[in-house]
Amino acid sequence: MKFEKVIKGHIVAPNEDFLGEIGINSGKISEISKTTGVLEGEDVHDYGENFVFPGFIDAHVHCYSNPNEGIKQASFAAAKGGITTFLDMPYDLPVPVANAEVLNKKIAIINKESVVDIALWGTIPKENGTKVIDELADAGVAAFKLSTFETDPYRFPRIADADILEAMKKTAERDLVIAFHAENDELLTRYIEEAQTNNQLKPIYHNLTRPPVTETTAVIKLLDMASWTNAKLHIVHVSHGRSLDYINWFKQQGTNVTAETCYNYLLLTTEDLKKHGPKAKINPPLRQPQEVAELEGYLLDDSIDFITSDHAPWQKADKSIGDDDIFKAKSGTPGLEIMIPLLFDYLIRSKELSVSHFADLLALAPAKRFNLLHKGSIELGKDADITVINNNTAWEIDENNFLSVSDISPYHGHQVNNQIEATFVRGQMVYSAEVGVNERATGRFVKPNE
Ligand SMILES: [Zn+2]
Repeated sequence: MKFEKVIKGHIVAPNEDFLGEIGINSGKISEISKTTGVLEGEDVHDYGENFVFPGFIDAHVHCYSNPNEGIKQASFAAAKGGITTFLDMPYDLPVPVANAEVLNKKIAIINKESVVDIALWGTIPKENGTKVIDELADAGVAAFKLSTFETDPYRFPRIADADILEAMKKTAERDLVIAFHAENDELLTRYIEEAQTNNQLKPIYHNLTRPPVTETTAVIKLLDMASWTNAKLHIVHVSHGRSLDYINWFKQQGTNVTAETCYNYLLLTTEDLKKHGPKAKINPPLRQPQEVAELEGYLLDDSIDFITSDHAPWQKADKSIGDDDIFKAKSGTPGLEIMIPLLFDYLIRSKELSVSHFADLLALAPAKRFNLLHKGSIELGKDADITVINNNTAWEIDENNFLSVSDISPYHGHQVNNQIEATFVRGQMVYSAEVGVNERATGRFVKPNE
């Protein structure tokens, strides 16, 4: 029998990798051969000894923090970066995803404009917010995101403790993850006011006004609340090992909790904040070199469930307003198109992590946590979402050449020693290094448990 498509290369499956072939029919993985020269196809892509990974999943993306980006551009950036599915955050400008009507509009845009698959986060309004949980769950959100820190009172509010407890109970009833931006609003508001009063406006004050205690006190409160409510808790962008000590202790007691860190917290330190200023401003902040080394230990110890980009597509003007006052710059960096190549160099080349372990951290674990049943691994019956990585090439990151509208990056000028050779979503080639993005490819909205 001939398959519609056959992909050959060094295949990365759960717990094993081998030179082999994947047979694809109707966008699904229909056959896996552990030797080559076996499967026949109408359309054969032979990648030699290049790595054929499951399509990577980025569970933390902010397409509409900067509306100049939106779904279409972010999906092009994702395709180029080897991300076949991402979960877009709900804190959209101008209107957050806090009711079913807004969600349905966003789903329609995804089905029309995206070249990769996208699942969506929902959130709740600041006041009496928990009543929207059922309608958003019915309409297909993959999870809920709330914050203990107020970035914006309407779009990205701080949620009061009583509402957090209620939201935890309601999301648990719907078997959905509830995730938190965990920073202690009261502490860091005070520290920032003090720094501003004393004219302490240099980049390093972004770190000094958000010491680890501003994260850990928020994390431990949420863990305790989750243990009382049986919530499926997830802590986004964990920046410090102490948070993971607490998370792991509660995990051992049976609390249903997972944690992610972002690529920036592994690859950059306060030295980069001093050097690059606003470009390296993210929340929580970059940590001291010693703390970053400790965080790496937790990752290699399997104490971190997965890694995300926290893609925030800011442009030069959003950052340069903070050149003389770090508190004025927007927080966040773009990540969709550079995270996987950067992490491949760091984890596989430098730390000798196995390719299967890499695929777990960046595809299988998020797929499992958010119940994306057809995603996350090269296994029979799953969607043929595939990312091919060429490990024998070098290029330099240029912030002026992103497909994202973002044109700032603390990695500008950094040499990368591998590249995304091709990206397939449900069997469609959506990107190749040779041709670029296939703008005719069709991405879809992905619902959990379907
Ligand atoms: Zn974020």
